[in-house]
Amino acid sequence: MIFGKKKKSADKKESSGEIEVPNLEIKAMGVGKEEAVGLLIACRQLPGYPLAVVLVANAINTRADRILIDFSAQGAVARYRVDGIWESLPAMDRPTADALLVVWKKVLGLNPVERKARQDGKFATNFRDIDWVISFMSTGVPTGERVLFTIERKKPVLKTLTDLGMRDAVQVTLKGMLNGDKGMVVISAPPTHGLPTTWRVGLDNADKFVRDWVLIENKKNQEPDIINVTEFYYEDGVETAEQVFDKVRLKQPDVYVLPSLISPQIVEAVLGQIHKENKHSVTRIVANDAVDAVIQILKQNPKHAKALLGVMQGALNQRLIRRLCESCKQAYQPTPQLLQKLGLPAGRVPKLYKPTIPPPPEQRVDAKGNPIEIEICKRCNGRGYFGRMALFELLVIDDKIRKAIGQFLESPDELRKFIKQSGHSGFFEEGVLACALGQTSLEEVQRVMQGK
Ligand SMILES: [Zn+2]
Repeated sequence: MIFGKKKKSADKKESSGEIEVPNLEIKAMGVGKEEAVGLLIACRQLPGYPLAVVLVANAINTRADRILIDFSAQGAVARYRVDGIWESLPAMDRPTADALLVVWKKVLGLNPVERKARQDGKFATNFRDIDWVISFMSTGVPTGERVLFTIERKKPVLKTLTDLGMRDAVQVTLKGMLNGDKGMVVISAPPTHGLPTTWRVGLDNADKFVRDWVLIENKKNQEPDIINVTEFYYEDGVETAEQVFDKVRLKQPDVYVLPSLISPQIVEAVLGQIHKENKHSVTRIVANDAVDAVIQILKQNPKHAKALLGVMQGALNQRLIRRLCESCKQAYQPTPQLLQKLGLPAGRVPKLYKPTIPPPPEQRVDAKGNPIEIEICKRCNGRGYFGRMALFELLVIDDKIRKAIGQFLESPDELRKFIKQSGHSGFFEEGVLACALGQTSLEEVQRVMQGK
């Protein structure tokens, strides 16, 4: 048994170890409709089909958003990523894993014999009344082959800044910045910390009814649609970003959305629009914190660093953190010393919470070594956490901070210290607040702070 559920019925199937195949329809994308149906019918007959389907259905059931399978000479190990944490499944032998992989390659119209060159496929499915789009990628690696499934909902569920976990006070400041003029706002996050989602939700929630918003980007970096932002893409070899910018400028938009600061010419053009025409701009960068975001942008644009710093109004950064499971989180009374260490006023936070993590199976025994039944939370399945939220750091760049950035450009830690001393709330402070609200635990804040 790998990770399937055996049929409970007492018929012969159980003794033969047959797996109950979940009802997961597979509509391959990128191949003709009839071909997709034909492929599916053929694949249903393959020995690896039940396990192939169980692998993906179980991933959705456990809320995983990635499945990674590493094939080596010895066998294969599959892992699910749940709330950002990788969990290994029991190892598979090579014939079992190969059979499973053949099914996925065939059903998506890829070449099942090709185990070195990269292959990409995609399929749509409706599972548990939700529409999903699942991407498949396989590629040869020095140790064998690597396979990655990316599981996404067809319709995004996170719509508001509150959905992302942003406090009201931070929302007010951020919206003020996005709806401002004559400036630049930076939205950032470390890799895999949900930057595309916050970018979309942040822009969706800015005021776009009285002002015209435009987006300029390379066609090969196509962006998901943002409500009421008109997109202008330039195509390499057809026209340049500067040519597109000039055309867009004539339409007199109010806000320029630049997922990347394309080139020094574009930076100069945007700065010109901000200074001469009171226009506004929003950009995005992968960065570890707000200070890192600002410094990276300035350093990548040495010629315009001073001018950029002059118009920057703020930088948002975020880290994803797991929410405690509401069904099994445990309250405890923090000691006055702990509260003091966390900077929380005594008496204001009577309780903090920690996750319920059951001991591993081998430790679930009494003093005599007899197994004992331990109840595992049905909601989180013993993970102690369920779902994630973001901790937000919003750096407001006023004249005092702007001056400090210019001064400490080469010593970011000094800059961080200065910013903290001026009362800026960083990830630690935001994390402690989330703990005080019972949303997460101190150990989870620590884990995320350490970038684990
Ligand atoms: Zn739970």
